[in-house]
Amino acid sequence: MASRILLTGGAGYIGSHTHVALVAAGHDVVILDNFSNARRAVPERLEQITGKPTKMIEGDVRDPATLAAIFKTQAIDAVVHFAALKAVGESMARPLDYFDVNIGGLTTLLHAMEAAGCRRLVFSSSATVYGVPDEAPTAETAPFRAMNPYGQTKIMGEQMLGWLQAANPEWAVGILRYFNPAGAHGSALIGEDPRDIPNNLMPFVAKVALGELPRISVFGNDYDTPDGTGVRDYIHVEDLARGHVLSLEKLLSTGQGHVVNLGTGRGYSVLEVIAAYRRASNRDLPHVITDRRPGDVPIYVARADRAAEVLGFQTEKGLDEMCASSWKWVSNMAGGA
Ligand code: NAD
Ligand code: UDP
Repeated sequence: MASRILLTGGAGYIGSHTHVALVAAGHDVVILDNFSNARRAVPERLEQITGKPTKMIEGDVRDPATLAAIFKTQAIDAVVHFAALKAVGESMARPLDYFDVNIGGLTTLLHAMEAAGCRRLVFSSSATVYGVPDEAPTAETAPFRAMNPYGQTKIMGEQMLGWLQAANPEWAVGILRYFNPAGAHGSALIGEDPRDIPNNLMPFVAKVALGELPRISVFGNDYDTPDGTGVRDYIHVEDLARGHVLSLEKLLSTGQGHVVNLGTGRGYSVLEVIAAYRRASNRDLPHVITDRRPGDVPIYVARADRAAEVLGFQTEKGLDEMCASSWKWVSNMAGGA
């Protein structure tokens, strides 16, 4: 059944791809974004992809008046909450900003939803809630371990939502713990678009392939992994977006919440990612081995069976498609698109 969905942070990387997937599934979507980490061209790009006007509200999720007006005028059935700050290193330097946006924003949103009687929410969480997990692949039952203020805000967000559902069973929340989102939309009109030198591997590799950065630093090759470099479960952002559609539809059809990992269940090392990107881009990708990055986790790989059982979610795209779509997107951007 078609529903009216509010996407906070819907102009960002994962939110924009989820917008496309929701519209393709027949839903009516309203975006709320303050463009603190998104380009103003995104709504128009979304129109090009979906062939429908993008309903875009510019505003801050911490502003109660903005939210009250949206719920009053838009008849929202459910919310997908992406709006947050997400850089681990920055969160160590400016923890208050992270508590303000990630916890303050969530609290303000929940108040507005409660006041409007809208109690269906999909929440962007992260594998980072597991800290350094005891086991890989890591199941949803693994304990919370905060490694930095960013991770702490995701743990606190999940816990707040747990207490809210315990207090009032009319709430149904889908908590989605993303592993490592990568790749871009097949149209190359939207994708990950970091403003500064990227911290994450895939966008950094993309900039080396473009010739904008000279070489990749591989952060350690002495981990207890097959080639000694860090292993991650990269998930194509279009697969991830589809996971949100399934989560929302499950919440709306059953009124029951869930907590699921969204990953592929398969890990790739840093060197494997570089090799795959080299194949996709046909560019030389110089790299050097450097010291480990402080606080890095050797292996993050999802136990992916709960998402399959609860949501019927399966990933469809592998690492080569992530690299190929990323390369198409960054080449398109570099060409001035
Ligand atoms: P992003 O920065 O591309 O998207 C976030 C969007 O929220 C941006 O468009 C930004 O302008 C907007 N925003 C930020 N603060 C806002 C505010 N106060 N009011 C309104 N809009 C605001 O990030 P993303 O990678 O798309 O991440 C989306 C969500 O997924 C975040 O909650 C993030 O913590 C979570 N997540 C991301 C990853 C990842 O690797 N990208 C992994 C796990 C979890
Ligand atoms: N990594 C790297 N060089 C970089 C960026 C990342 O070797 O310039 C490694 C990092 O140590 C980790 C993997 O790539 O093993 C993924 O890092 P990313 O920051 O993308 O994701 P996260 O560590 O947050 O899961």
